Amino acid sequence: MEDKRLTPFADAPDTAVITCRHVTDDGAPVLYVSHDEDDGMWQFLCGGEHSEDEARIVSLRYIYELDNSLGLLKDLPCGCYAERESLSDEWSVNS
Ligand SMILES: [Zn+2]
Repeated sequence: MEDKRLTPFADAPDTAVITCRHVTDDGAPVLYVSHDEDDGMWQFLCGGEHSEDEARIVSLRYIYELDNSLGLLKDLPCGCYAERESLSDEWSVNS
């Protein structure tokens, strides 16, 4: 049987997650992660301000392969978000 768990997250690797064009197109680091309370949707954003047309939908696997350190947040509860100042800083988790 094929192992489909290609990320440390409980969600399937092909789960749709929200990111922004800065991460997908500009190579910006993910500095803000939220796990939505209502629908469990993950957001992996650059930490800046966004308009709606800057949102991008990618798979969980895509974003994890872009930055394996995001696996540290696999247990982030729904309704919480995590931030860091830069790629080399620790995540701080907030609810
Ligand atoms: Zn952005």
